[in-house]
Amino acid sequence: MSPVRRCSRTACGRPAVATLTYVYADSTAVLGPLATYAEPHCYDLCAEHSERLTAPRGWEVVRLADGSAPARPSGDDLEALANAVREAARPQERAAEAGGKGARGADPMEVGRRGHLRVLRSPES
Ligand SMILES: [Zn+2]
Repeated sequence: MSPVRRCSRTACGRPAVATLTYVYADSTAVLGPLATYAEPHCYDLCAEHSERLTAPRGWEVVRLADGSAPARPSGDDLEALANAVREAARPQERAAEAGGKGARGADPMEVGRRGHLRVLRSPES
């Protein structure tokens, strides 16, 4: 694994300091300490993009830690919460993957929400 993670925003090569996780079921975007390892459901962000993060209408942004601080959680509770959030987000991710393989039927609602995700991921420049 590479020791340095980069911001996932297009045309931004700065080192990532935080990880953004989407919880589709709760329409919540959680910005927390840099995840231990990269997951398809998570997006690493640099300090600047963490600061400027905005959520689509109807979505809530929860910041677990100062995005400009080093990837060092202030307590185990925050890390546990971030992990719990990622855990909760996984079923949707699996459903999406399975839908591509035709193993399981994808939830039509999920497709719409993924549309929101695409809006969020658009580069600001
Ligand atoms: Zn960035």
